[in-house]
Amino acid sequence: MEKELVFGHQNPDTDAIGTAIAYSYLQNKLGYNTEAVALGEPNDETAYALKEFGFKAPRVIKTAANEVKAVMLVDHNEPQQSVPDRDQVKVTHVVDHHRIMNFTTSEPLYYRAEPVGCTSTIVWEMYQENGVEIPQNIAGLMLSAIISDTLLLKSPTTTDKDHAAVEALAKIAGVDYQKYGLKELKAGTNIADKSEEELIDLDAKSFSLNGSEVRIAQINVVDLPEAMERKKAFLTAMETAAKENNYALFMLLITNVLDSDSKALVVGSDSAKAKFEQAFGKNLVDAEASLPGVVSRKKQVVPPLTEAFE
Ligand code: MN
Ligand code: MN
Repeated sequence: MEKELVFGHQNPDTDAIGTAIAYSYLQNKLGYNTEAVALGEPNDETAYALKEFGFKAPRVIKTAANEVKAVMLVDHNEPQQSVPDRDQVKVTHVVDHHRIMNFTTSEPLYYRAEPVGCTSTIVWEMYQENGVEIPQNIAGLMLSAIISDTLLLKSPTTTDKDHAAVEALAKIAGVDYQKYGLKELKAGTNIADKSEEELIDLDAKSFSLNGSEVRIAQINVVDLPEAMERKKAFLTAMETAAKENNYALFMLLITNVLDSDSKALVVGSDSAKAKFEQAFGKNLVDAEASLPGVVSRKKQVVPPLTEAFE
């Protein structure tokens, strides 16, 4: 069988990398010939999870068509978040938990989308549906992905299925998920040794909202006031990135992973900033707004912004 690559989105998180590895393993058991790769290096949290369960970081690819004819996508579907030459390869499978946008194919494909907290939750179901046993280390990685995406089951994206998956995977992995989860989340909150330019790109995604390019980045921290001491430098870096890439709006969500609160920093055109204010019912004061309880980009940020831009 001809080889296919499996990967998650650009600026990969623990779901993008962990679920690509888990899904590739499952597909190989089912007779496909796949390799899990990534569209970027793992972040600190993902590196922690990979190391904890004995994995090396997957190979990073810049393009796909130079090595395969077909690919499988996990944890994304929007073209601007995928491999740049995706239009030159066939997408045979998608497993995802995001909105579906600008996604078309010329041929039939396997597409599985569920509104659950993490792609690994869906892949966990697929292991069971196919009667494939989950190895201990892969269970640990899938558990790490769910902990990451749901902020230890506290994000409003969390469903009963995510709870069930976490319980089952923790058992296979042999870890106490509360203890392990806190350590994993904290591993991703060290911002002291990174520049503002790095931080605003680490977990950033682009969205096309009614023709406007909107960039939304998120940083996890355990101390919001400490992060806000760097506000000026964040805004400068965001202004530069917005100008260089023609973003109508650049929003940085700084999230305290322990108490699930966020601050938003926002730069962009006056009309785009007005749309932000309309979306969240908040005035930007000095380019800043408090968003208590907001932790999920896909569920609490993208939908209201999309509506405001329409
Ligand atoms: Mn992701
Ligand atoms: Mn995800």
